[in-house]
Amino acid sequence: MSLEQELKEIIRDVVDFPKDGIVFKDLTTVLLYPELTKKVVKALANAIKEKPDAIAAIESRGFWFGTLLAQHLNLPFIPLRKKGKLPGATDEIYYDLEYGKASIEIHKGHVQKNWKVMVHDDLLATGGTAIAAAQLLERQGAKIHSFSFLVNLSFLEAEPLIKKAYPAVALNSLVNY
Ligand code: AMP
Repeated sequence: MSLEQELKEIIRDVVDFPKDGIVFKDLTTVLLYPELTKKVVKALANAIKEKPDAIAAIESRGFWFGTLLAQHLNLPFIPLRKKGKLPGATDEIYYDLEYGKASIEIHKGHVQKNWKVMVHDDLLATGGTAIAAAQLLERQGAKIHSFSFLVNLSFLEAEPLIKKAYPAVALNSLVNY
């Protein structure tokens, strides 16, 4: 069985969460299986052609595999957090979600100038979060290395949007719906 099929059997659909009409892809069920979690980290790593300088991931579900991936590749990890969570001086960006509005923050000075940074999140839906994360990282001096997701809800067509904004940047995902 392919990893994609294996993951599709384990990822749980939660209907009408967190709002009516949303089918939430619950990845906590993947984390129950350490061997599968390891396979996911390896597959995310194998998709990378040239090593980035750092991995940035988006709170909070992006941290699950983002930190493991950074550790696996021996790379610095940069958390992009919800408003008010980071204790130091921050830069902030607002964006639209599939189900509402949000903002994320980054610690100023944690990106070194011209670092090639990979943007990781658990899931790509409309693309708003990933593009906002990339813009915030660029504001802090990063070059966007690639985008990495476990799941791509490809029927929402975020990939063409990201490709338009970042034509030369790779986008990898393990599971497509
Ligand atoms: P978007 O900005 O629309 O691409 O939304 C991506 C972010 O929202 C990710 O951080 C996901 O964790 C979360 N998200 C959006 N839609 C879903 C969904 N249907 N199932 C699980 N997570 C979702």
